[in-house]
Amino acid sequence: MTDDDSTLILPAVGDTMVLPRVDDEGGADEAVHDALIELDGVGMTYPGPPPVEALKPVGLRVEAGEYVAIVGPSGSGKSTLLNLLGLLDVPTRGTYYLDGVDTSTMKESQRTRLRADKIGFIFQSFHLMAHRSATENVAMSLVYQGVPRRRRKAIARAKLELVGLGHRLDALPTTLSGGERQRVAIARALAAEPSLLLCDEPTGNLDSATAEAVLATIDELHAQGLTILMITHDHDVAERAGRAVTIRDGRLSEGNHVAAPA
Ligand code: ADP
Repeated sequence: MTDDDSTLILPAVGDTMVLPRVDDEGGADEAVHDALIELDGVGMTYPGPPPVEALKPVGLRVEAGEYVAIVGPSGSGKSTLLNLLGLLDVPTRGTYYLDGVDTSTMKESQRTRLRADKIGFIFQSFHLMAHRSATENVAMSLVYQGVPRRRRKAIARAKLELVGLGHRLDALPTTLSGGERQRVAIARALAAEPSLLLCDEPTGNLDSATAEAVLATIDELHAQGLTILMITHDHDVAERAGRAVTIRDGRLSEGNHVAAPA
């Protein structure tokens, strides 16, 4: 646990509570963008018809090294936010600075490059290639980075060892347990040395003992300095993070309100 426990569980007092690090006007105006993630008035409206305001304009800062859970029920806007933070989608309002870089004016190719350099993803369904070994699954993620083949394999092995799969380097995903598959996915996410690990319900398909082991691996990565952003509807998962942000009806607010006692 961290000094941020004060933000972990705050009483739900409607939509008007005072927020320490999220504001719905779009953040501060100063020109220094030194956070790893800074959303300045970022909002997302799907065109429809009818238009859907899936994310209300928000300011959010996540510092390098933080572990932040984004908690919210189905339909609250979690995927929308994840897609924006992961540079998979472009906001219809506001500016997203990633590691100080304004991503809103970038061309698609620049965004793709930045994504590959800075962001590792882990999803609920592991998205592994079934007919490739664990090592190949991890190594393939570096093909578009221009990393030579031999080096790709060396990195893949090192990352698989890091997540405790050094003994299953040549295993096919079909011969691995759910938890082991998610570890391969974590190793793949780490291959390019990202600054940010974006996790989308990574334990949603796992039994509780396996989920615990995967979350412990994520805790360890955080302890080593990686910035973690965890999208979840599971409050037990959220409580492992040093900080929780709730999303409800497209509105972000600091704290794990949904988990707060009535
Ligand atoms: P969650 O991930 O929390 O379930 P989403 O971000 O998927 O929530 O959805 C937030 C809201 O935006 C929902 O009302 C959903 O129906 C709507 N939505 C999501 N994607 C689209 C889209 N491509 N076009 C229109 N509406 C969308």
